[in-house]
Amino acid sequence: MTITKINYFFFLGHKWAIKGYSWIFPMENKILKVGAGKTHIKSKDQEKTNQTTKKITEKIIDEYLKAKEYKIIDKHGGIIRYSIGLKDKFYHNKVVAVGDAVSAINPRGGEGIRYAMQTAELASKYICKYITTGENNFDEYQKKWRRKKLLKWKLSEYSGRRMYSRYTDIQVENRLQFFHKNFSTEDMIQSLFNFKYNKIFARVFQYGFLKLSFLFKKEKF
Ligand SMILES: Cc1cc2nc3c(=O)[nH]c(=O)nc-3n(C[C@H](O)[C@H](O)[C@H](O)COP(=O)(O)OP(=O)(O)OC[C@H]3O[C@@H](n4cnc5c(N)ncnc54)[C@H](O)[C@@H]3O)c2cc1C
Repeated sequence: MTITKINYFFFLGHKWAIKGYSWIFPMENKILKVGAGKTHIKSKDQEKTNQTTKKITEKIIDEYLKAKEYKIIDKHGGIIRYSIGLKDKFYHNKVVAVGDAVSAINPRGGEGIRYAMQTAELASKYICKYITTGENNFDEYQKKWRRKKLLKWKLSEYSGRRMYSRYTDIQVENRLQFFHKNFSTEDMIQSLFNFKYNKIFARVFQYGFLKLSFLFKKEKF
C-alpha cells in the first residue's frame, strides 16, 4: 500500500519494502529521491528473501513510477544502529554522545536529524556546566533524555516491530485501510513521525469499545 502526503509517497508491505518502508520524496524540479529502508528485526518464521534495498528501489522506479528515461545523479545509504530501550552509554571518559550514538532516532520512522539536534541541545547545557564549574552531571543528561523519550520510543519500537515483521501484506493493507477511513493523512504522519498518538489511541479504544459492546449485546440476546 502507498500513503501520499502532498507529494511524499510511503510504501509499506512486503512487495515494496523489506521489513521497513520505502519512499519517494520530491527534491528540486524534476528531481525525486527514491529509497528503501530495511530493519533487521528477527522473527521466528522469517522467510529468506533475495530482495535488497537496491532491487526494491529499482522496482519502485520501474513499476510504480514507470520511468523509462531517467538519470541517477546520486546514490547514498548507511546503517543506523539502534539500542532497544535506549540503553546506550551517554557519557564516558570526557566523551559526550549525541544523536545516533544514543539512538536518538525514531525507531519506527527512522528519522534522526531533529532528535540529534535535541540531544545536542540538552547535552550542551551539561557541557557548559562542566566547563564553567567543573561539575560533572552527565548522568542527569541521560536520565532527562530517557525520562522524556523512553515511553514514546517504546511505543514506536513496538508498533514498528509489528508493522514491519509480523504483519502479512493483507494485514498491512487492512490496517492501513482502517486508518485511512478513520484518520486524516495528517494524523497518520503525526503518529508515524511525531509520536502523536492521542487521536489514534482515542479512536482505536472507541472502536474496541464498540466492538466489545456489540459482542456483549449479541451474547445477551
Ligand atoms: C539512508 C538514510 C536516510 C536517512 N534519511 C533521513 C531523513 O530523511 N530524515 C531524518 O531526520 N533522518 C534521516 N536519516 C537519519 C539521519 O541521517 C541521522 O539520524 C542523523 O544524521 C544523525 O546525526 P548524527 O550527528 O548523530 O550522526 P551523523 O550524521 O552520522 O554524523 C556523525 C559524523 O561523525 C563522523 N565520525 C564518525 N566516526 C568518527 C571518528 N572516529 N572521528 C571523527 N569523525 C567521525 C561521521 O563521518 C559523520 O560525519 C537517514 C539515515 C540514513 C542512513
